[in-house]
Amino acid sequence: LLQQPQASTMPTSKPKQSSLHAQYFSIQDIESGLAAGAFIPYFQPQINLESGLLHGVEALVRWHYGCQIIMPDHFLPIIESQQLILPMTKSVIEQTLKQMISWREAGLPDIQVSINLSAAYLNQLNLPQLMTDLLQEYPVNSSHITFEITERISLESNQPTLDTITRLRLKGFYLSLDDFGTGYSSLAQLDRLPFNEIKIDKSFVMHALSSPISRVIVESSVALAKQLGVRCVAEGIESQACEQFLKDSGCDIGQGYLYSRALPSHAFQQWALEYLK
Ligand code: C2E
Ligand code: CA
Ligand code: CA
Ligand code: CA
Repeated sequence: LLQQPQASTMPTSKPKQSSLHAQYFSIQDIESGLAAGAFIPYFQPQINLESGLLHGVEALVRWHYGCQIIMPDHFLPIIESQQLILPMTKSVIEQTLKQMISWREAGLPDIQVSINLSAAYLNQLNLPQLMTDLLQEYPVNSSHITFEITERISLESNQPTLDTITRLRLKGFYLSLDDFGTGYSSLAQLDRLPFNEIKIDKSFVMHALSSPISRVIVESSVALAKQLGVRCVAEGIESQACEQFLKDSGCDIGQGYLYSRALPSHAFQQWALEYLK
């Protein structure tokens, strides 16, 4: 194994973004980033595959660290292990609601906005109440918000988390089962929770044209969504050939670099106004 620098010290020479490792960041770095509002949602478009219309966006958090932009894989593990997921999630949700209002003011039609939640921590954040409070401050309809939930630990044994998720649905928010097909998100969750959407993991979508197994997983996930009457989203669409395959399979919504990467709010707004022309 390569030797890692001590936790809490940044290397003296600036590393490339890809070489940054979670262990370079100290809790103090993250806490001051949170206090400074440096964890910022970027927005990646989602397209209705049948109509070609803009369906919505997924909010994906980035950390503005000095002049670098740090991707979530480099800091979420520490955030999650240090109980900082609650303030980070609150901050991402609040900024996202603000942006929804400003997109509306800029003339964008109402779109579906997806927000990621780490399921393991849901019971500690009084999310149904927080959302009720926030929606009084930011007048957005709950039916325009989808919570994407990934199971990183078993939800089975976690009744408070199941209750939280069910209460969100009762308040009119939509629920998406993220990373569908991976070990984390299993068929059993569909039976246990009131999901409205399944999101096929990019590891299958990206290989659907080259790997017969991935292809079968994508096709059966789409078929399963149809049978259950839930929306089906494919992430990781990078080529027109892949988009065509998803269309032919009957998948509802597509997301991926073919359309756009996740963009800062204002850049997304420009992208959307151009797209809708
Ligand atoms: P995810 O929820 O599965 O999000 C999809 C990831 O795939 C994103 O990575 C997105 O940028 C990337 N992606 C989308 N289209 C393509 C494509 O065509 N090709 C490729 N190669 N990648 C594509 P990102 O932004 O690095 O996020 C990684 C993970 O971090 C997310 O995976 C999600 O689990 C987590 N995450 C991101 N933002 C938040 C957040 O605000 N809260 C929580 N709890 N988790 C978050
Ligand atoms: Ca997601
Ligand atoms: Ca995924
Ligand atoms: Ca994920």
